[in-house]
Amino acid sequence: MGNLVAIVGRPNVGKSTLFNRLVGGRVAIVDDFSGVTRDRHYGQSEWIGKTFTVVDTGGFVPESEDVFESAINSQVKIAVEESDVIIFMVDVSAGITSLDKSAADLLRRSKKPVLLVVNKVDNGDRQYEAAVFYGLGFDKLYCLSSASGSGTGDLLDDVVAHLPPAPADEEETETVPVSRLPRIAVVGRPNVGKSSLVNALLGEDRNIVTEIAGTTRDSIHTEYKAFGHHFTLVDTAGIRRKTKVKEDIEFYSVMRSLRALEDCDVSILVIDATVGIDAQDMNLVHLAVRNGKGLVILVNKWDLIEKTHKTSLEFEKVIRKKLEPFDDVPILFTSVHEKQRIFKAVEVAMKVHANRTKRIPTHKLNDIMLPFIAKYPPPAIKGKFVKIKFITQLPGHTNPKFAFFCNLPKYVNESYKRYLENKIRESFDFQGVPISIYMREK
Ligand code: GDP
Ligand code: GDP
Repeated sequence: MGNLVAIVGRPNVGKSTLFNRLVGGRVAIVDDFSGVTRDRHYGQSEWIGKTFTVVDTGGFVPESEDVFESAINSQVKIAVEESDVIIFMVDVSAGITSLDKSAADLLRRSKKPVLLVVNKVDNGDRQYEAAVFYGLGFDKLYCLSSASGSGTGDLLDDVVAHLPPAPADEEETETVPVSRLPRIAVVGRPNVGKSSLVNALLGEDRNIVTEIAGTTRDSIHTEYKAFGHHFTLVDTAGIRRKTKVKEDIEFYSVMRSLRALEDCDVSILVIDATVGIDAQDMNLVHLAVRNGKGLVILVNKWDLIEKTHKTSLEFEKVIRKKLEPFDDVPILFTSVHEKQRIFKAVEVAMKVHANRTKRIPTHKLNDIMLPFIAKYPPPAIKGKFVKIKFITQLPGHTNPKFAFFCNLPKYVNESYKRYLENKIRESFDFQGVPISIYMREK
């Protein structure tokens, strides 16, 4: 079970309004290729200590009246297959429509938890009107006003009740050795070469491959053991959809990538060299970073690029610029067709995994970091001086987290934290791994 929550429903019921409320504010992204600003359709949310990924499925429906019904039905089907909890939204001001009914029929048959949300319940009168939606055949209604936020607390309580338990507070937990294999996922947009890569790695030699009955129902976890590496490949590309609808392919691939990102330790983001890194890729980067996952970028189909000796450097510069401030990420130029650097990619991903799980001994951390702090202390704010006394890496299985103990943690600004992060990266190898910096009162 993962942490993927999808919001489905016909257009205009308020899905994106709720989405924006859950992921915190309207986050627009600029699509560098078309030059237009688009809304982001998935993001991270948190409620009572549990984090989850929310998908606004509405963003994947083409805007044309006559394709509505089939588009919404296929969107609902994909959401049911791929997510862990489904928020099914209807609009009290419109009553039950035929689209609501057909979606409800599909959803009632699913084995996933479906929460029926009646939106635009802005006042008491509408609360009464909402009761007609019991006609859709669900046991419970959640009355919501996405615009004002009222009702969202009750909804979220029940959403997170269906998610796996939150990990115990990092600082409380002792370091227990992780017995499971590293999990590596190949993610990216359709057609970049993910399946080709996975097939090239697994090859024909079935002896090195065993399919593990998925912990998640339908993601295929394959054990990989070859060339001195042993890990689990979280496969997003393996299952092919029998669909030709462009939006469905896009939506499906996004859902699979999100799920794989949740499941993995290290993500290999494949981009197409002939297309470059685009807004969708950057969304996956941000999500990997927010989830504390390792990241390796493969610029694939490198065989199709006309090159001089400077081409890869220039390419790399453009990508690193976009990745800022987290630009300490391995970037490889691959050709799956010509088997160029694909085993290198595995090697690098395993190195990133090692970086992600390593622990710097406290004395070493202090010996190296305290002089940097002495040389360039946190700037005084309102005449107050911050004194950092002691640093330690917090135990746990997630990405590396460092606590800086000081007298006035609230007075340390983001740019100083960035300085600390840069010094950690310069001194210890954390390439490909997002690290977190916490200021703590001693
Ligand atoms: P989507 O197409 O399902 O994503 O719907 P939107 O989020 O774009 O919302 C459609 C319209 O409904 C917009 O004009 C919103 O301002 C409005 N809306 C969304 N939530 C509420 C609500 O709780 N109350 C009212 N009165 N209007 C809302
Ligand atoms: P996926 O949708 O990301 O899984 O992409 P596929 O693996 O299905 O690849 C999409 C297309 O790109 C297929 O026609 C592949 O043969 C082609 N392709 C994949 N990798 C390469 C490569 O390194 N070079 C070239 N020229 N084509 C590639």
